[in-house]
Amino acid sequence: MKAVVLFSGGLDSTVLACRLIADGAEVNLLSIDYGQRHARELEYGEAVAKRLKLHRESLSLPELGNLLQGSSLTDRTVDLPEGHYEEESMKATVVPNRNMILLALAGGYALSSGFETVAYAAHAGDHTIYPDCRPEFADAMEKALGLADWSSLTLHRPFVDLAKADLVALGKELGAPLEMTWSCYAGREKHCGKCGTCVERKEAFELAKVADPTEYED
Ligand SMILES: [Zn+2]
Repeated sequence: MKAVVLFSGGLDSTVLACRLIADGAEVNLLSIDYGQRHARELEYGEAVAKRLKLHRESLSLPELGNLLQGSSLTDRTVDLPEGHYEEESMKATVVPNRNMILLALAGGYALSSGFETVAYAAHAGDHTIYPDCRPEFADAMEKALGLADWSSLTLHRPFVDLAKADLVALGKELGAPLEMTWSCYAGREKHCGKCGTCVERKEAFELAKVADPTEYED
């Protein structure tokens, strides 16, 4: 398999890249600056790509954030909620139509590189908050990508039924550099430990019984 991995520099997409490498796939990474508050993840992604010795394309579209307002991730006037993903307040972190936009860009890159697959790391824990991580969305997106060109393109999403803790366990098993990944939406010097994705990350390491290498703010 030749796959373009939509790669944020976070834990999930790092484990996905390691899974595909272990399966013998040829992998290129695509990281996109869409004006996210936590653009720090891109620096982490660069370091992870080097560690994994993978080619990483970095696309800089920070002005995209101007079109995707109303989300606390792209709109500085919306406060970043703290707490657990099961809370209604976390919906403020939904970026309008993010995955369709990012997957469409990855699809173009895959087609032009002669790659037949786009892969993204949506997992079961994402579905409650992010509509574009639902299996139904992925199915529909795969159909559209398959029709976008004369050559076929598939959408690989092997984690869609796995929990975040399963990804931590898998990452550990695969020797993924989990300590080099960035999750926090606040995007400060260290992980804040309080935003939805920090809470989820901490909980996943605990549930997987893997020592959490992350440095959190006090
Ligand atoms: Zn955080």
